[in-house]
Amino acid sequence: MDCRGAASRTCNRRTQGVAGNRCASRAWKGNETILPGRSGGVHTSDQPAAIPSPCPRADHTQRAETVVSHAILTDKYGRQITDLRISVTDRCNYRCVYCRTGNDGALFSELAMGEYLRMARVFVSLGITKIRLTGGEPLLRRDLTELVGELSRLRTADGGRLDLAITTNGHLLAKMAAPLAAAGLNRVTVSMDAVDRERFARITRVPNGYENVLAGIRAAKEAGLEPLKINCVLLRGFNDDQITAFGCFAREHQVMVRFIEFMPLEEDRVWSPEVVVPLKEILERMARFRPLREIAHGASETARRYLFDDGIGEIGIIAPVSMPFCGHCSRVRLTSDGKIRTCLFSIVEHDLYGLMRAGADDERLSRFIVDAIAHKEQRHHIGEPDFVPPSRTMVHIGG
Ligand code: SAM
Repeated sequence: MDCRGAASRTCNRRTQGVAGNRCASRAWKGNETILPGRSGGVHTSDQPAAIPSPCPRADHTQRAETVVSHAILTDKYGRQITDLRISVTDRCNYRCVYCRTGNDGALFSELAMGEYLRMARVFVSLGITKIRLTGGEPLLRRDLTELVGELSRLRTADGGRLDLAITTNGHLLAKMAAPLAAAGLNRVTVSMDAVDRERFARITRVPNGYENVLAGIRAAKEAGLEPLKINCVLLRGFNDDQITAFGCFAREHQVMVRFIEFMPLEEDRVWSPEVVVPLKEILERMARFRPLREIAHGASETARRYLFDDGIGEIGIIAPVSMPFCGHCSRVRLTSDGKIRTCLFSIVEHDLYGLMRAGADDERLSRFIVDAIAHKEQRHHIGEPDFVPPSRTMVHIGG
């Protein structure tokens, strides 16, 4: 099969509806009401919303200093923690059906950018080398570019630059890609769960988002924010007929498309194992379009990587459900309200901001972080009888 007409084949299949899917009985049965335009105070315009911050404004006059500590964050299972994900808001301008109820808005507060910066500086002094800004939708924060600029001035324990990335839905990226790149951002990952305008609107519950995201992808590439990754969460019976179309998209746009197995992290709590499209099945279905060969991936890299047989187009698969990679996890998360989460599925959080607000110095914050990391969970328990839902869902943690 070639890429011409892949989208229309996708559409033809879609007109059969979920009932036409060979796996219909196991298909997504979650919430997918299409809400016209705005609702519930959700910000969908091209202008970033004002920040309802309970905290003082960022002090960008205070320059980040070179950090010389050689400490390394290691948990009790011997895993080195080098990647920090900071959620700068849990507001989002999309209401993706598999992530949000469509009714709930932000639940947690946001800190001033200067407060995230101070926390980041302490983390970096402890061996963090990579920071990803996320949310909610991080591009809703007005002063995101300034934060990126400050983070880009930090130096790792061995004097190198941080690897700085953002995960975004891409809706506001067209205007922000160039300033973010100029401020020192290295890479961007864009979430996109369909390569079909109408399906995209059904998933995000926002009309006309698709064109914005495509424009954002183009702008990010022009700004040099590469390699550009596209993340797609597949739901059986809802968008799994997009697999081939995404293969075409990866080839045509020279982006790495990464499929993510759906995890029980949604507000609706409708997850079931049947809705997950596992790595093996994605590979089999993509191989029917065009053969793939696996290429090397880093031990702590979440995605297994594949190239099409002719070397054009890369596919990644992140398979936390069918092939968990907890044993190689190198990540720690900071929520928008300044809590440390040592696992997506943590049921306890560590209140770093509370400590900071109480006047703790950097030394005290360092000890707190080291202690929290030492208690990092060994693994998640998705699908097991003893699984306990995490204390927050994805949009409120930061993916
Ligand atoms: N708004 C940004 C975005 O759309 O990329 C950042 C936040 S979003 C929560 C981060 C990523 O988490 C997105 O790629 C989204 O598709 C993914 N995600 C959300 N819920 C998920 C779930 N239950 N399982 C797997 N991935 C999920």
